[in-house]
Amino acid sequence: MNTDILIVGTGVGGLFGALNLPRDKKILMITKDEIENSDSFLAQGGICMLRGEEDYDSYFEDTMKAGHYENRKESVDIMIRSSREIIKDLIGYGVEFARENGDLAFTREGGHSRPRILFHEDITGREITEKLLAQVKKRDNITILEHTTMVDLVCRDNVCYGAVCRRRDGSLVTVQAKETVLACGGVGGLYEHSTNFPHLTGDGLAVALKHGVRLENIDYVQIHPTTLYSKKPGRRFLISESVRGEGAVLYNAEHKRFVDELLPRDLLSAAIRRQMELDHKPYVWLSMEHIPQEEIKSHFPNIYQKCLEEGYDVTKECIPVVPAQHYFMGGIWVDRDSRSSMEQLYAVGETSCNGVHGANRLASNSLLESLVFAKRCAAKIKSEISGVREDKKVWEELDLSLYSDYDKIKEDYRRSIEQETERMRRHHEQSNYHEAKCG
Ligand SMILES: Cc1cc2nc3c(=O)[nH]c(=O)nc-3n(C[C@H](O)[C@H](O)[C@H](O)COP(=O)(O)OP(=O)(O)OC[C@H]3O[C@@H](n4cnc5c(N)ncnc54)[C@H](O)[C@@H]3O)c2cc1C
Repeated sequence: MNTDILIVGTGVGGLFGALNLPRDKKILMITKDEIENSDSFLAQGGICMLRGEEDYDSYFEDTMKAGHYENRKESVDIMIRSSREIIKDLIGYGVEFARENGDLAFTREGGHSRPRILFHEDITGREITEKLLAQVKKRDNITILEHTTMVDLVCRDNVCYGAVCRRRDGSLVTVQAKETVLACGGVGGLYEHSTNFPHLTGDGLAVALKHGVRLENIDYVQIHPTTLYSKKPGRRFLISESVRGEGAVLYNAEHKRFVDELLPRDLLSAAIRRQMELDHKPYVWLSMEHIPQEEIKSHFPNIYQKCLEEGYDVTKECIPVVPAQHYFMGGIWVDRDSRSSMEQLYAVGETSCNGVHGANRLASNSLLESLVFAKRCAAKIKSEISGVREDKKVWEELDLSLYSDYDKIKEDYRRSIEQETERMRRHHEQSNYHEAKCG
């Protein structure tokens, strides 16, 4: 297949990138699963927006503090400054956010010093992603292929020319593209307990590693403090941070509060784990008793319903919660325009690392970060696409027999990510030790 731009992934990063690309370019989007099965559909809590100039310093500081000041300041600034424009774009595409007397309503989550999060009930991600998808479907220049998995990049001398993909029936397809965008989401599928879809297994990272594309902080993985405890295997159901933002509290086994519920996620997860050990229990309790019943049902209808299905009426009783893998701060290193270290290869969304989140993400910054940097990616591609290189020989020499054993490829990719994560973890440990020792 031949296309101008190949986008791997149909979450918010991929979709918003596609919508911002020129309409006269041929765009092919592929997704490993069904279109609706991306983490973007799962986002509950909301999306941040700079409310006004007076909130800039505080929003910047909250993001930096949550990220342990390891964030790239330039990226944080770009994200915050672009937030109003992005929200305007979303509303223009038909996205509806909660309102109070006609004005946008804001909620608060852990790590935020004031309410600055827009939401749509507790299904903000679904609302945004569905509306973006509807727009993408209207564009004649964009084609989406479901159940089509990128298994490798086709590249030579640090230039990317497209990808090798695998269809559901096991057949292989090669996609020649002038520009390739990796928007493949996070790594939750590599973990036993995660809030992510299991097919999100860090494929973008694996192919980047294979071809020497620069990665950053891939050991920085966020654990969400509150997911519904269950003995069943599979994806963990998230109890959004905004539930705590609206007044839910955590109790230990003796029904006593033991922590500030609005601590940043990493600190709160650690406190919960400590409490679980002290209590000798695989969970702690979360109570919504301080949130009015009507608000629970209107602001958190999805959480209310899901808990009912699991046998808990949150308007009357506590629910057991446990930390689980949730988000990936590291990824393919990209610059301010989402360019990777390989020519003609971009990365956006959770797959990428533009440095916004530092060592730990502030709640509700990831949808925004994905959208902001996907739009910048599209603008850069627009300005660069006319000068891209082509290499006919790379396609002639491509040996597709190397991709016949998909199970082995998956296993190799998993192993290479695990090894590199461990290497980076040790590197971070040593440099922290060095810093502590040398000041
Ligand atoms: C339960 C939950 C709640 C969340 N709540 C919030 C929130 O309230 N606010 C917020 O800001 N963020 C939230 N997040 C995080 C946010 O949803 C994600 O970071 C964001 O949606 C990531 O978007 P993405 O486009 O990068 O990836 P995704 O939406 O995960 O999409 C990845 C895409 O890549 C495709 N893909 C992967 N590998 C391949 C391959 N090899 N070949 C082809 N396709 C591939 C997948 O099929 C999918 O289409 C939440 C996340 C979860 C899991």
